Parts: sequence; C-alpha cells; structure tokens
Amino acid sequence: MPGKPRIGVSRCLLGDEVRHDGRHKRNSTLLEILGPRVEWVPVCPELEVGMGVPREAVHLVAHADGIRLLGVDSRMDWTDTMTAWARGRIEDLERLDLSGFVLKADSPSCGAKDVHVLSDAGERRDGRGVFADALLRMLPDLPVIDERELENPERREQFIRRALGYHARRT
Ligand code: SF4
Repeated sequence: MPGKPRIGVSRCLLGDEVRHDGRHKRNSTLLEILGPRVEWVPVCPELEVGMGVPREAVHLVAHADGIRLLGVDSRMDWTDTMTAWARGRIEDLERLDLSGFVLKADSPSCGAKDVHVLSDAGERRDGRGVFADALLRMLPDLPVIDERELENPERREQFIRRALGYHARRT
C-alpha cells in the first residue's frame, strides 16, 4: 500500500519564520486538516536562493522585456537568479516524487495567480510568483493549490483527491 503523498509547501505556511520580516504565515487548516494525511516537503524560494532572513522585501515589476522580481527599495534584480535556482530545485522535487504543492498566495515568489505587479500604468493583479511560474510550467500536471483556496472545503478535498491519485499512479 502506498505511503503518504509528498506535498511541497511554501515553508512560511508551516509556521517557520522565513518571511522577509522574520515572521511566519502559519496556516492552521494546512497543518491540522492536511498535515496528518501527507508528508511535507518545505520550500522557501527566497531563503534558499540566498536572500537571508530578515531581507529586503521584493515585488514584481513590469518592464519592456517582461516581469522582473526586484528589491522594493534597492531595485536589486533577483529574476535571473531565482529563475535559474527554481529550475534546479524543481528538478530535485520531481526526483522526490512530489504529488502536489501548496503555495502561499500573493507572494512575488510563491503566488500562483493574481499577484500584484507594478507597472507604469499603476498596479495590476495578474502576476505569478517567479518560483510558482517555474513550477507550473515544468510540472503542469502536478496538483497545486494556494492557501486561500485551501479554505474552501470543496477545493481542498478536490486537491487531496488529485494528489492521492497522482501519488497512486507513481507508486
Ligand atoms: S511566500 Fe514563499 S518565498 Fe515568501 S516566505 Fe513564504 S515560502 Fe518563502
């Protein structure tokens, strides 16, 4: 009988203090409802790429050549570093037989959709975090949900069913 599915998770949702301000975003639904049914594989792209804790906050900015991940004050451009790191990390995750991923909403690194993007015309909400974008492109069939959708019992159960099915097909 297959063991518990391995599920990637934006690490701050587990209660780890890895956010730019040294705080966490502990999500009790994730820990209490999903936790007993899965094996977590925590990932914090900003920490793992070397930004440190605490660190300067970053945001998505629209440029002529695409969306960039920039330091809010310094304008330091993390896009290429984060993209290259994400590629390698996602290949490693695939080797771990990941069966799903729970992403932090609204993050310029982890947000799967509707992330704030600063543009000349003002702020839009149609961005995708740089790590999340790589994850969704490289593993298009992987079941993915964000913390906000997790609060919807129907969406949550659908995610769990898909992750268990994905897991069963790979074991
Ligand atoms: S949202 Fe992603 S990058 Fe930001 S602290 Fe959480 S895990 Fe790290």
